[in-house]
Amino acid sequence: MAKYIFVAGGVMSGIGKGISTASIGKILQTKGFKVSAIKMDPYINVDAGTMNPIEHGEVFVTDDGMECDQDVGNYERFLDISLTDDNYLTTGKVYQTVIQKERNLEYNGRCVEVVPDIPNEVIKKIETLAERSKADFVLIEIGGTVGEYQNLLFLEAARLLKLKNPKGVLFVLVSYLPVPDMIGEMKTKPTQMAARLLNEAGIQPDIILARASQPLDEPRKRKISIFCNVAPEDVISALDAKSIYEVPVNLAKENLGIRILGKFGMSSKKNDFGDWENLVEKISKVSEPIKIGIVGKYFESGKFILADSYISVIESIKHACWYHNRKPEIVWLSAEKYEDDPKALEELRQYDGIIVPGGFGTRGVEGKIKAIQFLRENNIPFFGLCLGMQLATIEFARNVCGLKKASSTEFIPDCQEPVIDVMNGQKDLLKEKKYGGTMRLGAYNCDLKPDTQAFRAYKTKTISERHRHRYELNNKYRPMLEQNGLVMAGVNPEKDLVEIVELKDHPFFVGVQFHPEFKSRPLNPQPLFREFVGAAIKGKNK
Ligand code: GLN
Repeated sequence: MAKYIFVAGGVMSGIGKGISTASIGKILQTKGFKVSAIKMDPYINVDAGTMNPIEHGEVFVTDDGMECDQDVGNYERFLDISLTDDNYLTTGKVYQTVIQKERNLEYNGRCVEVVPDIPNEVIKKIETLAERSKADFVLIEIGGTVGEYQNLLFLEAARLLKLKNPKGVLFVLVSYLPVPDMIGEMKTKPTQMAARLLNEAGIQPDIILARASQPLDEPRKRKISIFCNVAPEDVISALDAKSIYEVPVNLAKENLGIRILGKFGMSSKKNDFGDWENLVEKISKVSEPIKIGIVGKYFESGKFILADSYISVIESIKHACWYHNRKPEIVWLSAEKYEDDPKALEELRQYDGIIVPGGFGTRGVEGKIKAIQFLRENNIPFFGLCLGMQLATIEFARNVCGLKKASSTEFIPDCQEPVIDVMNGQKDLLKEKKYGGTMRLGAYNCDLKPDTQAFRAYKTKTISERHRHRYELNNKYRPMLEQNGLVMAGVNPEKDLVEIVELKDHPFFVGVQFHPEFKSRPLNPQPLFREFVGAAIKGKNK
């Protein structure tokens, strides 16, 4: 029987529930247990596919094509496992299932109610994950903050699962301890309040992870213990870390794993962080920088820069840099400035490599195309992801093949030279606004051409990568592009779709229709990111 660990957050959002959940999982793995994790998001959206990246962060995609919250990406990276549709749930999805069952008369004509039918459906989902994953521990991260209306039904499910299975369920509260400047002292009251709010939902936390910029001292530990009804040993200091990958190591030192196992009457089967600890050590030591620019648009939010929309891209760059013993220096470059001021392009010379990541819609597109042209002409390593690959193709069609009107039907629906276009079967669906059925989502195979950057990176003929896009390189233009020197380095064998384009006489110029960033792992960088950073280092050392 799997044990269940719920992780809820108190005080405010953004305190690292996802990393805490992933870290608890990592610690239990190092003690010899099989772990899986599920994120529960309190949105009416059925999946994350329709959520705005600036508001919600990156949309992560699994092999089976589920569009989910970025935390699922953290679980994959920390636990080194591939997850599925079983590992993500939204309020919308629960309601959709319950309403569909009601329509199918599966409740035998009785009244269907929010409580208990909605929490019961949530529990069913958790138990299905336990069964399918055969995990010893299932971690359940509850999105949002305790005390808000939005996630009450998930807390209700947690309470009911504990009632059903008192020895098999544990609650972790991740809380935040502010040190206000004007007081200069760490305050525990918000955490006390958060614990009270959990109590109101019928839940007593077993463990409190006290997130703070400073370590927790004894008086504050005691205070939290007394007021939150938790043993002092279960109030665990979760200090800000320089790198997220350090967090499991730090929490293990605070005995988190031992405390959890103890509560279930279990003991460690082993105790081995393996190469993970070496990586953490390496991350703290690397000093020689490598400067990578990301030309995008989803990071400005009012006066703040938010990197969450590109989180997997950022992590993939870091993994690759650490592999090469370099310190990643990642800089945000807003695509739009290259549209108004072409001279601004000169700044691209300061970078060892540039990534143009995925995106939707027209904003910033022409700026990205100008940037790509500059990188191509000035031999600066370029790596285009999804939209980045489409724009590299458009740039090449316009400026090398002379097809001045080349564009994508995403930007100009009646475009004269649709070098990037939707596949025929999807056009009618789009006309009817059936956007849901028109994305190519999840893992697809790709055959690589020998003697290409891609083949040298992967060192194998067939690869599988994850997709999330609607538009494709239009096969009608393939002969023209190839004759002019754009190499079709990877093609999907089933549908004959171009997945990778690259240039021969360039230090690194590769565009991929898929999202390689979803499969990079800290100890196993994604091959193309690894080679891209390798080329950036070579260029810098020249
Ligand atoms: N907007 C493009 C498409 O739908 C690219 C999507 C992406 O970059 N993920 O095909």
